[in-house]
Amino acid sequence: RATRIGESTLADWMNSATSGSGSGLPFLVQRTMARQITLTNCIGKGRYGAVWKGMWQGEPIAVKVFASRDEQSWARETEYNTVMLRHSNILGYIASDMISRESDTELWLVCYYHPLGSLYEYLQRTELDHQLMLQLCLSAANGLAHLHTDIVGVCGKAAIAHRDIKSKNILVKNDLTCCIADLGLAVTHNSEEDQINIPKNNRVGTKRYMSPEVLDETLNTSSFECFKQADVYSFGVVWEIARRCVSGGLVEEYNPPFYDVVNYDPSFEEMRKVVSVDNYRPVIPNRWSSDPSLSLLSKLLRETWCKNPSNRLTIHRLAPAITKEIYPSNDMDPLLSLAPKVDEKTYARN
Ligand code: ADP
Ligand code: MG
Ligand code: MG
Repeated sequence: RATRIGESTLADWMNSATSGSGSGLPFLVQRTMARQITLTNCIGKGRYGAVWKGMWQGEPIAVKVFASRDEQSWARETEYNTVMLRHSNILGYIASDMISRESDTELWLVCYYHPLGSLYEYLQRTELDHQLMLQLCLSAANGLAHLHTDIVGVCGKAAIAHRDIKSKNILVKNDLTCCIADLGLAVTHNSEEDQINIPKNNRVGTKRYMSPEVLDETLNTSSFECFKQADVYSFGVVWEIARRCVSGGLVEEYNPPFYDVVNYDPSFEEMRKVVSVDNYRPVIPNRWSSDPSLSLLSKLLRETWCKNPSNRLTIHRLAPAITKEIYPSNDMDPLLSLAPKVDEKTYARN
């Protein structure tokens, strides 16, 4: 029997979908979605295997393939995506499935495909104008704000902290707004019982983007606020975007944060020394100070990089501050409500 996720819990589905022989192998998967997908080419490699472009019912889709030993990570991403995560700035999820290939079981996560790829790749090949820069920053901020938001209702949404915010985990959509991807390390917060479900794996993100408190291991893992504060630090990814914005004929080349002080694959110790001990932060280029939008972003960046996590802006303050730069006449109180989404009709480029 093929059961669809959404009809039952993941655990029910895993049980009903296995053969019952104790092998854990799926029972009669031939008719399921994975069998209808043709994988065409590999579009990304990350920690847990590869991401493929595929075709399903005539449409391009993206398939993240997990080996069966990474089941935990697959189950986690699947679970988050089935709890009201739909938002235009969060990677759209289609389905999860398993498939047996070469005597192993692969676990698939099927999502919408974004041909422009990650923000990391996009920024290397593209120079931005002001509008595009702000639009990329704001849309990514809106995605993170939605993740961090706890929606209480008959069918609501738990607050989620991402724990691996970086330009490789943000995708650029065809309308040139961003969506947040890769929930493999995320944690959710049960606000009623104030409980955090910490994943069993102890990988805590990407060293280059780790906050000082993650690096010196002082993050209070029993407070959900602390995980959100660490995400905001990593959201300094805005610096990578702003460097690519042309002003007065000047622009910086693409570089990842801390390119000036650490090598390609910095160790935990190196990053701890730079960020936590020496309190060094990415350099704000001089030219930014003579440009209103870049000055605003540098001010916001300083407030996301504070050593003391509780002095940082929350994402719910940062997003409206960018909105104000885009819509100066908007008289909505930015501190009371979430930023509106970028109007796609006004900002779309062909
Ligand atoms: P991992 O958990 O292994 O890091 P990700 O989900 O971050 O996997 O995906 C790895 C890379 O694959 C991304 O950095 C991006 O370049 C590419 N990628 C992932 N999902 C998509 C997608 N839906 N459309 C286009 N490219 C994608
Ligand atoms: Mg990733
Ligand atoms: Mg990941």
